[in-house]
Amino acid sequence: MRFTHDTEPALVAVVALVNSGRNAQDTLTDPAALADFLDEHGYTGRRDGTDAELRSVRALRDRVTHFWQIGRDDAASEVNAILRECGAVPFLTRHDSSDWHIHVTDSADPLADRIGAETAMALIDLIRADEFDRLTVCAAPDCDSVLIDMSRNRSRRFCAHRNCGNRANVAAYRRRRSQAAD
Ligand SMILES: [Zn+2]
Ligand SMILES: [Zn+2]
Repeated sequence: MRFTHDTEPALVAVVALVNSGRNAQDTLTDPAALADFLDEHGYTGRRDGTDAELRSVRALRDRVTHFWQIGRDDAASEVNAILRECGAVPFLTRHDSSDWHIHVTDSADPLADRIGAETAMALIDLIRADEFDRLTVCAAPDCDSVLIDMSRNRSRRFCAHRNCGNRANVAAYRRRRSQAAD
């Protein structure tokens, strides 16, 4: 699965954003945690560092979490709504080490609008390629983290964020060992 070069980092970022509020442990609870998230995912542009900004990003998080609960057609409508509300206007830009690519918001626009627009643009790639069902929830029984399976053969079942694939392997190994001991 090949997407435009901005798509994969935006999908990784939105998965991390959604997972910050999953598994009954909210990790996006103050402006410092938001700053860490932005640094980790290479967000540039305006940052207010205020509680109001945090609230708006948290509201966006609730909204984008919804994408894991709806189908492709509803997702298309929601992407359109987000782009409209964020005032998205596509333009070509070239900055830092990135050659010409599309931005749809200005770097001085509010953070939640920019994250929302970037998420919507990345989801456009999945929706129009009919790959929207790559959005899934972790298969571990004790985990409700989300993931977007970007593997070629759609083989990812577990989230990276809580290392559930490893935990499942260890549990299966222990099960085999205890069966062998019976
Ligand atoms: Zn850029
Ligand atoms: Zn998991």
